[in-house]
Amino acid sequence: MLIVDTTISNIYSGILMDHPSLLIVDDEPDNFDVIETLLSDQDYQLHYAASGQEALDFLDLFQPDVILLDVMMSGMDGIEVCKRIKAIPQWESIPIIIVTALTTKTDLARCLMAGADDFISKPVNRLELMARVRSMLRIRQQYKQLATFNARLESTVQQRTAQLQTLIFQDALTQLPSRTSLLQKLSEVLQSGVSSFAVIYLDCDQFKLVNGSFGHAVGDQLLLAITKRLQQHLRPGDVLARMGEDEFCFLLHQVEDAIALKPFIEAILQSFRSPFIVADCEMFMTVCMGITLGSSAYQQSEEPLQNADTAMYRAKLQGKGCYQFFDRQMAEAMLSRLTLENDLQRALEQQEFVTYYQPIVNLTSGKICGFEALVRWQHADRGMVSPGEFIPCLEETGLIVPVGIVVLKQACQQLRDWQQQGWTDLTMSVNLSVRQFSCPDLLNDIDRVLAETAVSPAHLKLEITESAIMDNAQTAIGLTEQLRSRQIQISIDDFGTGYSSLGYLHRFPVDILKIDRSFVNQLQAGNRNYQVVTTIITLSNQLGLAVTAEGIETAQQLQWLQQLGCEFGQGYLFSRPLMAADIEKLYLKKAYQPFC
Ligand code: C2E
Ligand code: MG
Ligand code: MG
Repeated sequence: MLIVDTTISNIYSGILMDHPSLLIVDDEPDNFDVIETLLSDQDYQLHYAASGQEALDFLDLFQPDVILLDVMMSGMDGIEVCKRIKAIPQWESIPIIIVTALTTKTDLARCLMAGADDFISKPVNRLELMARVRSMLRIRQQYKQLATFNARLESTVQQRTAQLQTLIFQDALTQLPSRTSLLQKLSEVLQSGVSSFAVIYLDCDQFKLVNGSFGHAVGDQLLLAITKRLQQHLRPGDVLARMGEDEFCFLLHQVEDAIALKPFIEAILQSFRSPFIVADCEMFMTVCMGITLGSSAYQQSEEPLQNADTAMYRAKLQGKGCYQFFDRQMAEAMLSRLTLENDLQRALEQQEFVTYYQPIVNLTSGKICGFEALVRWQHADRGMVSPGEFIPCLEETGLIVPVGIVVLKQACQQLRDWQQQGWTDLTMSVNLSVRQFSCPDLLNDIDRVLAETAVSPAHLKLEITESAIMDNAQTAIGLTEQLRSRQIQISIDDFGTGYSSLGYLHRFPVDILKIDRSFVNQLQAGNRNYQVVTTIITLSNQLGLAVTAEGIETAQQLQWLQQLGCEFGQGYLFSRPLMAADIEKLYLKKAYQPFC
């Protein structure tokens, strides 16, 4: 006989502990009656199963909070029932109290082995029964709380995992697929064996100017507006992803060749010709694009992306709003560029950078008044490498900062050495790159080198280009003031090739203008270069600046410069840049012989 209320509410009521449910399993109905009487004043729901099998059937429908289980039953005995219940994960947490007349240690051990949680001996004592049932209900309650807690935890973890997945696969600002998502889609394309696709990598030109001038909030709005415009070009099945700050990428399907792609590229470029309205401002933005066409040679999803990125980098070198298709030579150039970067890093560690010195001559007296320090790379296989080949790479990688300090230190040490040998009036000019100029440690580094080499700052000249000044005029003014307060002199190198804006000169505390050698090289009486050089010298005189002409190669050039009143000069006519020992041998230790 089974007493069970099968209404839905009752089935679930077991979850709540305000009416705990007990299942009494005993083949003697009288025993059930006894227990029912003993527990009559308790708020329990009692259910009865007259055999082991009935009990198991009951559990299929409803799980009680505690089971009181008789051992000696006909058919399936209590030990077996206990074993079966405990073997089922859903049921194993229901506490089982064995109600038994068997009390030997062996019997009890058998019950425990079968998974029983407690015992009550027959005949059942009311107080003992109540105490044991309550204790088991407490355990059941704790288990249920734990299960609820675990379920909540699991659902939170699932929610968080879903959020993370979204973050990984979707860009938070634009809601576009992320780089990871694009890589996954590319990987699917490659796996399917399709090669008629194209990857177009886009990078906005000078986007950081927007962030810098208007702030990141406006930058974000502009990115959203750009996203909208790019999305208009999407065909069904194509993908537009955001790759990072101002970088986007298209994955286009069914693109047979470059010609087929041209209208798409033109349309993208066209869509950037009208301004974006952001924060009540009209903003013009251009993009550069790098494109790679699908190929069966592509194995990994990163490869087409990398190649499109390489092509984009090439497009950038051509200027704003340009695009480039990837080709093999590009990859080779990229590789040799990477090799150069590694070699330069190693060269710095192995101290392969050496400083050469080119005399700077007083054009009135013909005497050497100082030197310009020019870096060379003493390459193990290639011999002496000129800066034109590696300075741009040093600049881009930022390695120019430590290399620049190496040169400064070598030059200052050399100057002190020469001064100690008696050439006390010499000055040393050292080039500073734009990168060094914007490095916050620059002043500290210079102070340290001057202190270590005990060179007087008044003998040091630092050469900077116009672009170093114009890139960040306010910082540059502060920095040059700091340098000049130490009595270090400042030269504007390659003057006339940069902004050619003379307007900044009166605002900017400099000492010397170095006329770029391109003007000196093609100096002809009365020609345009002659006019430029004349203007620069006149201007310098008016502003109280000294002038040095670079690249003097012929006696004629020298004569004209002297006539124009140019104070200083350097060039192959006097000497090429040389190593310190040669400078000493050829010029410093020789009997005095003025150059002009
Ligand atoms: P720069 O500072 O304008 O240096 C003058 C360059 O003109 C030197 O080239 C020098 O060898 C060359 N030169 C001098 N006289 C003549 C001449 O009569 N005819 C010709 N055709 N060239 C002449 P170099 O040594 O190859 O250096 C090139 C540039 O590399 C330098 O131009 C400078 O901008 C940069 N550089 C060199 N050393 C350093 C350095 O230590 N740090 C930084 N940041 N840049 C450096
Ligand atoms: Mg220079
Ligand atoms: Mg120069």
